[in-house]
Amino acid sequence: MKNGRNSPTCQRRIAVEECFAARMDSVHRSFIREILKVTADPSIISFAGGLPNPEMFPVQAMSEAASRILGGSTGAASLQYSTTEGDPVLRRFIADRYAKRGVEVDPDDIVITTGSQQCLDMAGKVFLDKGDTVVIERPGYLGAIQSFSVYEPNFVTVALQDDGPDLEELERAFAAGAKMFYAVPNFQNPSGVSYSAEKRAAVAELLDRYGVVFVEDDPYGELRFMGEHLPPVYSFRKKPGLLNGSFSKIAAPGFRLGWVVAPGVVRDKLVVAKQATDLHTSTLAQSIMRAYLEENDIDDHVETIRETYGRHREVMVEKIREYFPAQVRCTEPEGGMFLWATLPEGCSSMELFDSAIRRKVAFVPGAPFYADGGGDNTLRLNFSNADPERIGEGIARLGESIREFLD
Ligand code: PMP
Repeated sequence: MKNGRNSPTCQRRIAVEECFAARMDSVHRSFIREILKVTADPSIISFAGGLPNPEMFPVQAMSEAASRILGGSTGAASLQYSTTEGDPVLRRFIADRYAKRGVEVDPDDIVITTGSQQCLDMAGKVFLDKGDTVVIERPGYLGAIQSFSVYEPNFVTVALQDDGPDLEELERAFAAGAKMFYAVPNFQNPSGVSYSAEKRAAVAELLDRYGVVFVEDDPYGELRFMGEHLPPVYSFRKKPGLLNGSFSKIAAPGFRLGWVVAPGVVRDKLVVAKQATDLHTSTLAQSIMRAYLEENDIDDHVETIRETYGRHREVMVEKIREYFPAQVRCTEPEGGMFLWATLPEGCSSMELFDSAIRRKVAFVPGAPFYADGGGDNTLRLNFSNADPERIGEGIARLGESIREFLD
């Protein structure tokens, strides 16, 4: 008997842990998801999560869209298998929104994905062989480090300055043979930093010159509270890269709807990679989102989110100026959901975390965002999720914890 109780494998009683693929050795559970367990206590004011504010979810309008889809003649089709590329009307809608912002995109070059997180996995699958070099920002998005790690690359990090990456470091990494550069040029997670127009152009030039694959992740670009909208690096390029977008921050993350823009030949490979993973993104989710977009003005909705998060950000920045000791440096982002704080050299934000929890306030220590170590004195603060009153109270508590800690 080959596979039964008496099979050789069964007699040897190999523990299932010994059967895990080697590639999973360097892929770890998300540190943030672990922290969220600690902060689930409602008495804790949490700046730890990366969650959009649920009050911004268009629940009523989505409920009506869902009823229209399921109650009408489209009901059965919305429950059927569909194409890997995704709903053509949704893709046209995304291309039209890019056009309004001056970015020319062919709807045929858009693939609807299961959240923009899936774009990272698809890019890894299509481009990365074991040992290939991926350049990422320092600090960088944890979800990308996790996603690419499955393909066993070698990570090289490049310092993120106030206006984008350190260009000398970036060029050095490209010249040393990097295959891919992953970046979040708008209101980056975790730092809130955005690339200046000059750095966007310079990064595009380097990418073109060295022929590096660029994965440009842009889930926060529409959440700008101040300053001028800047085109993606994608628009500065001679050779197009991959541009990822998402409905998570402008509508709701529970739909798990995102997209990737990629030129024909890359798009075709991405489609094959996605097909192998999930055949296609939920037809029902796409249908409801499409019905929502047809009947509602998403630009109005995004404006409401901008105003709300902008107010939250203002309160957080003001209270930080009031309560944090002067030695703590903080970014003051023009959009997005995160702000980044740097404690004096030698202070551990991991240790601060424990004393902050005693005061019932939480944040994410920065070290995990550094793919190759460091960042022990940094931390990430989210301002989208808590209301302004709790933001004020939380920052006051955190300020007390920091003062006590530094003393
Ligand atoms: N990229 C970045 C930079 C993010 O912050 C997130 C959300 N945490 C994602 C991708 C994934 O978002 P989603 O899959 O919901 O589109």
